[in-house]
Amino acid sequence: MAKYDFDLFVIGAGSGGVAASRRAAAHGAKVAIAESSRVGGTCVIRGCVPKKLLVYGAEVREMLEDAKGYGWSIGPAAHDWPALIAAKDKEIARLNGVYLRMLANSGVRLYETRARIVDAHTVALEGQGQVSAERILVATGARPFRPAIPGADLGIVSDDAFDLEALPRRVLMVGGGYIAVEFAGIFHGLGAAVQLHYRGEQILRGFDRDLRDGLADELRKSGIALRLNSDLTRLERAGSAIRAHLVDGSAVETDLVMFATGRKPNTAGLGLEAAGVALGPEGAVAVDADSRTAQASIYAIGDVTNRLALTPVAINEGRAFADTVYGKTKRTLDYANIPSAVFSHPPIGTVGLSEERARARFPAIDIYKARFTPMKHTLSGRDTKTLMKLVVDARTDRVLGAHMLGADAPEIVQGVAIALVCGATKAQFDATVAIHPSAAEEFVTMREKWQPPKPAAAD
Ligand code: NDP
Repeated sequence: MAKYDFDLFVIGAGSGGVAASRRAAAHGAKVAIAESSRVGGTCVIRGCVPKKLLVYGAEVREMLEDAKGYGWSIGPAAHDWPALIAAKDKEIARLNGVYLRMLANSGVRLYETRARIVDAHTVALEGQGQVSAERILVATGARPFRPAIPGADLGIVSDDAFDLEALPRRVLMVGGGYIAVEFAGIFHGLGAAVQLHYRGEQILRGFDRDLRDGLADELRKSGIALRLNSDLTRLERAGSAIRAHLVDGSAVETDLVMFATGRKPNTAGLGLEAAGVALGPEGAVAVDADSRTAQASIYAIGDVTNRLALTPVAINEGRAFADTVYGKTKRTLDYANIPSAVFSHPPIGTVGLSEERARARFPAIDIYKARFTPMKHTLSGRDTKTLMKLVVDARTDRVLGAHMLGADAPEIVQGVAIALVCGATKAQFDATVAIHPSAAEEFVTMREKWQPPKPAAAD
């Protein structure tokens, strides 16, 4: 008789947990997975996927506005928020079904309940007793967090934004990260008056400075009120509206406050520490390069480990774990050159080192930049700029970073990321023939090294 009920018990059926469980099962392991909410997790149910659908919805406004420059006359357009939310819900339900079928077809046993770790090999399932497993994989993700200010409950977080009954007339966004700029663009594009309050001196801390400044300019030009060095001190009801008090002593009234102030790992109430699992900063599960925790039979992947909170990273960590443990192919994830996108308006695509990080690590850096009006907007007349930038190690000619702000940036930078993973040099970028006319061709046609502007000569 087997010593354990399962070879592997996975807690959390998001992108990482599902990928790990299916891969382990494909390697012949007997696998179970528990999910207390909907299978699919943050990305599919209340993150990347529904967010991108809303981004597409918001972009239609610009297409309607730009149509005139191409000879179209379009009558007054109106947006129906409940119709968009219903269409989005239908698509998410379809994807949830796809995930359920994928698990069933892989032979992974699903427990649709909350799981808690009892000890190194035992999991308690709410209302369904206990099961044992040789190994346990924690893939419980993270959840949005609200700052501890009075009245914070009057504000929503991204989970709630997907189910609003109506589009608010005025939105006050708090935060300067991915979610803040993405949802600012969504609400603005669909017709709300949006102000974005960020506590620092420029949005998107950690991104290349030119991208940060460039996106801030574009947000302002689009009509979003960007308030830097601004934060909320408390919220209160003001009739049917909300009054937000700011650090400078002033107050603003709005119909919706959304906190996009980061996410915290889902580790509370899981029984981790009692089972010998060490937690790090923010309560994240501490793991080694093989995703193993301080308890040898318990592993963790994805946002709950707070390494790099991106869906494809969680999926790769999950598959690397399963291949290493059940596929007898040891592999770990290389965290260098992981591309990412911000689906702001316009979007960002980025891979490798920012200019600031490259300068801190390498003695000599060359910068190549292009800033131009995209061809599409020569006729539409829209005042928007595309920015493209390469960061190059001057000694080896290797391209260390590629950054883009502008239409299709995520689609373009995905391809450029392959070149960086291959260790491409600037000379190899230059040797690549351009696709013309495109915006992407700028990545292979930038010849002039960027020189910082000379300080004005004193009289
Ligand atoms: P981020 O960590 O990206 O940004 C959080 C923002 O909130 C920062 O600007 C931060 O400021 C600010 N903030 C933090 N605490 C407070 C506070 N107490 N009061 C006021 N402001 C505060 O988190 P997000 O919520 O935007 O996204 C979470 C993660 O999800 C991202 O890091 C990313 O990994 C992932 N994600 C990825 C997406 C994509 O790939 N397109 C899309 C959405 C999310 P400061 O800079 O000063 O710390």
